[in-house]
Amino acid sequence: MINKDRVIGQFLELVQIDSETKHERAIADVLKKKFEALGLEVIEDDSAAVTGHGAGNLIATLKPAGAEEAEPILFTCHMDTVTPGVGIKPVVGEDGWIRSDGTTILGADDKAGVAALLEMIQVLNEQQVPHGQIQFVITAGEESGLMGARALDGSKLDAKYGFALDSNGEVGAICVAAPTQARIEIEIFGKSAHAGVNPEDGISAIQVAGKAISRMKLGRIDAETTANIGKFEGGGATNIVTDYAKLYAEARSIVQEKVEKQIAGMKEAVESACRDYGARGEFKSNIIYPAFQHNETDAVVQLAKKAADQLGLSGRTFMSGGGSDANIFNGLGIPTVNLAVGYENIHTTSERIKVEDIVKAAEYVLQIVKVTTDRK
Ligand code: ZN
Ligand code: CA
Repeated sequence: MINKDRVIGQFLELVQIDSETKHERAIADVLKKKFEALGLEVIEDDSAAVTGHGAGNLIATLKPAGAEEAEPILFTCHMDTVTPGVGIKPVVGEDGWIRSDGTTILGADDKAGVAALLEMIQVLNEQQVPHGQIQFVITAGEESGLMGARALDGSKLDAKYGFALDSNGEVGAICVAAPTQARIEIEIFGKSAHAGVNPEDGISAIQVAGKAISRMKLGRIDAETTANIGKFEGGGATNIVTDYAKLYAEARSIVQEKVEKQIAGMKEAVESACRDYGARGEFKSNIIYPAFQHNETDAVVQLAKKAADQLGLSGRTFMSGGGSDANIFNGLGIPTVNLAVGYENIHTTSERIKVEDIVKAAEYVLQIVKVTTDRK
């Protein structure tokens, strides 16, 4: 049912439209037209005003056909890419892999997902496959820190389950859990003094920060939790006791309480080091996206597994170490899993995807629609 030449043609066309993150205007306009040509109603939300990106998020709604009672669902992909993503020239190899010419990324992340979705809609229309309402949310700014999705207006969505297509792994693999991420900034205010004449009158912010760090648990905390200091700023001349230092850190966990506990531990380390040295500390932490974790028995996982099973795909479930737009949709209260698209080496100039996997991804999303429609 999937038209291989059409979906591959679609993919090759999409990757040749420049869409580095923050510069999504051209791709957003093309996608809007493509969804409209397939009969969907498309709105672009106001998030560009908040994110400063080239476009807002597109929300395309396919009205129910032949199955008005079926539960509404959504699919989501992102329209932006990482750099270097200007002037992409895809090459279809005789080995069945599609690559760039080696000077840019390919952009299969995430245009393979977008092409699969467009093909699925074509087939739904052509074959008059019954379905309920299906929304397609194509976000901007995913690669700049889920910026578009974070600014998405959830009230425009009406879906019982969500399926993101934006994960590594073989088509049919299902990401069912991903961590929350907290961004942390720590400032230490000490006191300056001459390092040779009267160091005892100073409080070294670097020393305090060093003590604080030595009291923190960092790196791999447990199977579900990690923490890292990414940047240390501060200091100047060696003859001055440094009065200021700043640390940039992060903490992640699949489990919300665990990330909170980790943050509290890091904060306590800063406070105790400041107390010991008579310094002052400022500790800021900001959860930039929430975690999610679905069980095998959750309906959204069951649906994705059942569709995989019917196509002879693995239906393997796994946990991710990083966040994606799926975190945001889960945070909005729409149980969402992140489906693997088959792309490899993403965010590098050796990014690649198999022709066959783009076709499989389209077959898989079509099967998910059929399974969700049959559910009622
Ligand atoms: Zn992606
Ligand atoms: Ca990516």
